[in-house]
Amino acid sequence: MARFLKIQCECGSDPEIVYGDSKMRRLCKKCQAVIVEPSGGRARVNARIVEVLS
Ligand SMILES: [Zn+2]
Repeated sequence: MARFLKIQCECGSDPEIVYGDSKMRRLCKKCQAVIVEPSGGRARVNARIVEVLS
């Protein structure tokens, strides 16, 4: 099930909207940490999930 997630990095950056099945690595704009990493299906999220959007 594909869905969008609103996530916030541990550093307290502004929340970002990402695709739950993203095939793209996503970096935090503020601290450059990898916050979304593709893992062959559902992306791995290394950040706090603020909200799940459907
Ligand atoms: Zn960050």
